[in-house]
Amino acid sequence: MTSFATHEVLNQSPPFEDVDLFNLDRPLVEAVAMNDGAAGHPELSEFGKHWGSAAMAARGRAANENPPKLRTFDARGFRRDEVEFHPAYHELMARSAHAGIHNSTWTADGKPAGAASEVLRAAKFYMAAQVETGHLCPITMTRASVAALALEPDLLAKAMPVISQAAYDPTFAPYWTKRGMTLGMGMTEKQGGTDVRSNMTRAERDGDAWRITGHKWFMSAPMCDAFLVLAQAERGLSCFFMPRFKPDGSVNEINFQRLKEKLGNRSNASSEVEFTGAYAERVGDEGKGIRTIIQMVQLTRQDCAIASVGLMRSGLVHALHHARHRSVFQKHLADQPLMQTVLADMALQVEASVALVMRLCKAFDQAPVDPAEAAYMRLLTPAVKYWVCKSAPPFLYEAMECLGGNGYVEDGILARHYRESPVNAIWEGSGNVMCLDVLRALSREGEAASQVLQGLVQETMGLSGAAETASFVIKTLLRSDNENVARAAVEALAMLAATAALAAVHPGHAELFAQNRLSPSRGKMYGAADLAPEHCRSLLERALP
Ligand SMILES: Cc1cc2nc3c(=O)[nH]c(=O)nc-3n(C[C@H](O)[C@H](O)[C@H](O)COP(=O)(O)OP(=O)(O)OC[C@H]3O[C@@H](n4cnc5c(N)ncnc54)[C@H](O)[C@@H]3O)c2cc1C
Repeated sequence: MTSFATHEVLNQSPPFEDVDLFNLDRPLVEAVAMNDGAAGHPELSEFGKHWGSAAMAARGRAANENPPKLRTFDARGFRRDEVEFHPAYHELMARSAHAGIHNSTWTADGKPAGAASEVLRAAKFYMAAQVETGHLCPITMTRASVAALALEPDLLAKAMPVISQAAYDPTFAPYWTKRGMTLGMGMTEKQGGTDVRSNMTRAERDGDAWRITGHKWFMSAPMCDAFLVLAQAERGLSCFFMPRFKPDGSVNEINFQRLKEKLGNRSNASSEVEFTGAYAERVGDEGKGIRTIIQMVQLTRQDCAIASVGLMRSGLVHALHHARHRSVFQKHLADQPLMQTVLADMALQVEASVALVMRLCKAFDQAPVDPAEAAYMRLLTPAVKYWVCKSAPPFLYEAMECLGGNGYVEDGILARHYRESPVNAIWEGSGNVMCLDVLRALSREGEAASQVLQGLVQETMGLSGAAETASFVIKTLLRSDNENVARAAVEALAMLAATAALAAVHPGHAELFAQNRLSPSRGKMYGAADLAPEHCRSLLERALP
């Protein structure tokens, strides 16, 4: 209790800080174990305590309250093209890099690390997203870039010794001289983002290298040491590795025009950029740029979903923590039956989402050696990105409301999470694009995709509404002219997969999820679910003991 001159401060919840973000999260602990990551628990708990500290929360706030600044020219009018970040941003980058979130799914020579490296890294990414999400943009792009660089072994051999360092080095210097490096990507132009075939940026041969001329309308994390960029070469759209410095050590012709003013994602810089004959090296075959860069995009899509669940988890625990401390009408909010139902319904959503993304990450782990897992990964990545990322903004709004007015002000973290949440659905392929990608997977790899659907039918057998949902998904997705119903079918597919993933972790809660999400429900808002008091208790106890 604190006294002010005019009143005593009562009935405000203490900050949710200095906690272990891993061990307090039973659905995460069990989903990691279920997907082969049990051996990583001590490492994840150490990570969870570090990222759950008050010091990390303060860094997250400072990095967003002090957004990056573009320094286009120096005092003498020479181009500088550097972006300055607050020290808190550099700290966050250093902590993430130290924990290997930018590289730990690869061996030192750029091969998939195997074992449960995807699951363990995903758990860290999910916890870091609860604290600060903007800096994860260069972290995810760096990790993902290796999948595309793998098509060019000589280039990979040059970059991998630097990428594989568990270090962050923000110095503006050639990547081959640094202790660590980050990579970004430039695809989107003014006339087209989804339709990258409309790219106008040109690539011309210059000996063994290439010169790139044109623009990108969005190119995030401009202080990355190199970018994978799409440009039109003689034989069509191709992918290029464009470093900030040329091989002779001079600065490359990459001119930043301005930084975007964004709804959220404020700690991260997103630039508009022009290339005036910038030096680049080709990655993958000429004319096969989309096929090359999609290797990278597949992984950033996975991370969009993981980050969105992380944001929802943070919303849930802040709401639940507050409700356990705040009294209204002589009773804690957490003991009011209607609030219990709201919170438990939200906990159910997060529990299913965590189970689903961890199951997806297991597929990423096993895809290189198991064709069935590769098919699961191919079909479910766009479906999971679609459903999970779209779930986050309304979820965070509801979490905010649980804190009443305090949820809406910028002193807390929920306003920031809410502003952050839509971007994961927009970038790396927006909602409709994800649905069309599911259809593409079915049309190109129909047999493998059908087997994935059959697997989901088996894993959800006997759960309420599962058979009807599966039948709707199969009938709808396997029809030929089905774009107009793709959203309904892809959402149902993702929820069926979530039910299956949760059934492996907690069958009782999987049945609750099936009853309330697969069967026609009584309402769409959180709190309209049909949850008995003992179910509410069980869900909330697992969410935050
Ligand atoms: C903060 C931020 C950072 C970004 N950083 C980067 C970056 O680093 N590098 C980069 O390359 N890009 C970046 N982007 C761009 C982002 O990837 C694109 O905005 C996104 O891919 C959509 O492209 P667009 O904006 O051109 O929209 P459009 O392609 O015009 O799409 C508009 C809408 O139409 C829908 N649509 C498209 N095709 C179809 C179809 N066939 N049928 C039905 N609907 C369709 C889309 O789903 C979308 O909802 C960033 C964007 C944001 C917001």
